[in-house]
Amino acid sequence: MENQDISHNPLTASKGLPPFDQIAAEHIVPAVRYTLSEAQLKLNELETRYTPTWDGLLKPITEIEAPFDYCWSPVLHLLGVKNSLELREAHETVLTEVVTFSLKMRQSLAIYKGLRAIREGEEWKRLNQAQKRVVEISLKHAEHGGVALEGETKKRFIEIETQLSQLNTDFSNHVLDATKSFFLDITSITDTEGWPVSLKQVAAQSYKQANPDNAAEISADGGPWRITLDIPSFMPFMQHSRNRDQRKHVYHAYVTRASSGEWDNQSLIDQILVLRQEKAKLLGFNTYAELSLDSKMAPGVPAVEKMFQELTLAATPYAKKEFNEVCKLADKSGQVEDVKQWDWAFWSERLREKRFDYTDDELRPYFQLPNVLNGLFNIVGNLFNVFVEMESGDFPTWHPDVRLFRVRGQDGTLLASFYLDPFTRPQEKRGGAWMGDCLNRKEVDGTVRLPVVHICCNGTAPVGDKPPLMSFREVETLFHEFGHALQGMLTTVNETNVAGVNGVEWDAVELPSQFMENWCYHKPTLMAMTQHVETGEPLPDELFEKIKASKTFQSGSATMRQLQFGMVDIKLHHQYDPTAGESPSEIYADLAKKLSVFEPYAADRFLCSFSHIFAGGYAAGYYSYKWAEVLSADAFAAFEAVGLNSLTAIQEKGRKFRDTVLALGGSVHPMDVFKQFRGREPNTKALLRHSGFTEGK
Ligand code: ZN
Repeated sequence: MENQDISHNPLTASKGLPPFDQIAAEHIVPAVRYTLSEAQLKLNELETRYTPTWDGLLKPITEIEAPFDYCWSPVLHLLGVKNSLELREAHETVLTEVVTFSLKMRQSLAIYKGLRAIREGEEWKRLNQAQKRVVEISLKHAEHGGVALEGETKKRFIEIETQLSQLNTDFSNHVLDATKSFFLDITSITDTEGWPVSLKQVAAQSYKQANPDNAAEISADGGPWRITLDIPSFMPFMQHSRNRDQRKHVYHAYVTRASSGEWDNQSLIDQILVLRQEKAKLLGFNTYAELSLDSKMAPGVPAVEKMFQELTLAATPYAKKEFNEVCKLADKSGQVEDVKQWDWAFWSERLREKRFDYTDDELRPYFQLPNVLNGLFNIVGNLFNVFVEMESGDFPTWHPDVRLFRVRGQDGTLLASFYLDPFTRPQEKRGGAWMGDCLNRKEVDGTVRLPVVHICCNGTAPVGDKPPLMSFREVETLFHEFGHALQGMLTTVNETNVAGVNGVEWDAVELPSQFMENWCYHKPTLMAMTQHVETGEPLPDELFEKIKASKTFQSGSATMRQLQFGMVDIKLHHQYDPTAGESPSEIYADLAKKLSVFEPYAADRFLCSFSHIFAGGYAAGYYSYKWAEVLSADAFAAFEAVGLNSLTAIQEKGRKFRDTVLALGGSVHPMDVFKQFRGREPNTKALLRHSGFTEGK
């Protein structure tokens, strides 16, 4: 009976595109449970009887994992683009079962022993590079998960993992609760002078949500307004509120989140750091930072510190200069008091307005989605010798706005496909933009299954039959996600676990995406994309120059801020000694004193809301943001060096980029991939130049 149901379940398909149009919430639980039970049977069998060879172990593992491409991956995708209560419930019902199974596979002692035997065996020399990487990455995953530990050590390891997982969840919940608990209600219209309309709307909406009974009397123009610590409220308020006391009040609330009372994260930070240190030691590392870097591109803590040092040296004078400019403007505009942290965003925004007097709304009519896509496909075609066309036939989809595109080689051979889901749908689609795998490249029964990826954005949906318009930021985001997509699509690797984005160390994963963003500032590329929706005119030169110049606006301060976060993260996970008497907040304050242009704000408890490193996956990994910027800037500099306006020169470099970064993906260590493309290891020179830090150069 159950099997009969299953055969009609769209989540048990095994070829073609996933039937998105047929998948409903009620399919999830039976399909996932069926797939899991089949996989469990196969795993049991494999664990008791395998030969330690590629065909005897790794191939069967791939076969066990394969059905999840059609059964689990579409579920995760639909959660992002077609969320509903029913879907969430079904997902929640089976989530633990899926996680438990995947842990079982990764932590299987039998498989681990088999992998070790392959690593040390006769066959190793004959495996290709991608196969070797699969084995090495799997071994590392398993070892970092404690598989090789025994007896008391293993018991303690599991205890630590359980405690850490609870502490991470508590930390994150405290930040969320503390963020939610704060609000500032504003009733006087004078206090909203200078606010952009969008802030008034957001703030009136927040007030309305909290006071649904008075909804009829609340309006964006007349108030009342509620300011919260959520970024869409907090940021524009700090940039536009002319009431300095209110700014200070809100700023204080922001930097002291989760630092006292029932949501106090201070003792959690201490516990997390101590447990992480112990975990690293159990696994044979000196510090948690060394454990973290063991599975990243950066060769070690000294390499990360070297990057910090070079960037600090170059950015510091610029940060100081930017600070002085802001102080001067504040002074001239009549602020008597010294510029403090809560004045920074406000006066910076005034300076930005003065220097680059254009708004997002002014640019929008120039960027029509179809033209932007054409421009994007053009530059991609030139660089990587491919062409992109929209699928005109039928294809399964989850929404009528979604389009399917085909990527072909110059001779017409199909290489890959991608779905583009361009517009915002607040009721069912999550915010932001992302690229995700739909189907990875893979060898199935001797033939290659071509990759399919998802590109999801949150652009404004068109009104009526007007063409959809984009902000410049949205254009940049599209290029960014397309960079990820290219790595997913132009891979030539058939071992699915290291094909495309898979298996790429995550401090290297933003290389192709940030690389693509650069082309938005390449005049011929950008100009070719613009056409004013009413006049048909391209973007005026003067506006282009302003866009370009604003890219480096206050980049010194922005860099210093990122460095401060990156450095405190490494310090806490590498040098910090919990028994030495110095607290994490003292370490943070000490760094702030050295790096910030401001006298540190004594009440600042930023670490208490630093979820990236205490609740997310960025522990001893926050540096990755800058690391990847170094890589992408350095890669783009290879194109600058040959002359951006020489088509043949960038085509030649483009082929090389395609053959290395895009084709190899996770099948080769990213340092080697980079060296294959660039002929040397990466350095910070290009990023410094792109950031505008050119003095003394
Ligand atoms: Zn990205």
